[in-house]
Amino acid sequence: MKKHNFSAGPCILSPEVITGASEAVKDFNGMGLSLLEISHRDKNFVDVMDEARSLSKEIMGLDDDFEVLFLQGGASLQFCMAPYNFMHSGGKAGYLVTGTWAKKAAAEAALFGEIAEIGSSADRNFSYIPKDLNISDSLDYFHLTSNNTIVGTQMKEIPKTKIPLVCDMSSDIFSKTIDFNQFSLIYAGAQKNLGPAGATLVAVRKSVLGKTSRPIPSMLDYSKHINSDSMFNTPPVFSVYTSLLTLRWIKKIGGLTVVEKQNNLKAKYIYEEIDRNSLFDGTADKRDRSNMNVCFLLNDDSLKNKFNSLCSESGIVGINGHRSVGGYRASIYNALPIDSVKTLVDIMKHIELY
Ligand SMILES: *Cc1c(COP(=O)(O)O)cnc(C)c1O
Repeated sequence: MKKHNFSAGPCILSPEVITGASEAVKDFNGMGLSLLEISHRDKNFVDVMDEARSLSKEIMGLDDDFEVLFLQGGASLQFCMAPYNFMHSGGKAGYLVTGTWAKKAAAEAALFGEIAEIGSSADRNFSYIPKDLNISDSLDYFHLTSNNTIVGTQMKEIPKTKIPLVCDMSSDIFSKTIDFNQFSLIYAGAQKNLGPAGATLVAVRKSVLGKTSRPIPSMLDYSKHINSDSMFNTPPVFSVYTSLLTLRWIKKIGGLTVVEKQNNLKAKYIYEEIDRNSLFDGTADKRDRSNMNVCFLLNDDSLKNKFNSLCSESGIVGINGHRSVGGYRASIYNALPIDSVKTLVDIMKHIELY
């Protein structure tokens, strides 16, 4: 049976991306060799890395000061690379604490210098995005998490500031149009909207680098990775290639404007049902609701088994909420078809009749 994959990450990819990736594993570019068994210095792969970097820049509309890298270590390594490269010795950085990942990012930066918590929604289990922030110009940078995967909130507005903005976009990169040039560093683990785990997309402004006097280990130094065209050491070839297939797919279907329209429609369907149906409650404040991760509760315990079995009978997988929130989480990333959302909404309507 066809599955409706609502997993939070790793998660659904476009069928043509999966097909292209599996073909490349068998025979890459008609070379008679697998993508997995050629040198990463072979022109066939160097072209992949170059196109993945330039197409990312093109889709995001990044200016010439930006370099795009595909690194390893996940978004979690960026929690430490950002302060390593951006925080001055004895410096101070601002963090907006909007969820588990943001908290982890701030804790990692605290190893390097002082942290100013510019805002936090911990008081209500991260169910909203703090507003009206007071961001001092003397901070080395301000770190945001644009989409909070676990609690289902998303920043609809990016605060204005003169200091460099650093953004963890792991779970909503390439999901909508946004002025990417307002940031100095953007990072995203591939496994949510881009490709398989193993690569992390990093977009960094060259002009912001080189301001710290701290010695930086080569593998953690953005400049070293830039100078070696994102090939300082062996890159995660499969993840980079599959991410490139997703980037080509995004461009082919019309870019971020089209992707955003589709995502808005999917989110609208499911949130409208949550608000209409008295059996369900959304867990995030309405104005901060995520268009990627829809978190909700079924408020009649006696219907849970029925709801769960209706979902699995329809092929719905991956909608259990994160253990820290409970309830359900429908992740509706770029590649999730609207049919999958309709299937879920039909079940939500159907359960009312019990
Ligand atoms: C998943 C996720 C992470 C962690 O990513 P890894 O690649 O597993 O380190 C960090 N931030 C956000 C917002 C995420 O959704």
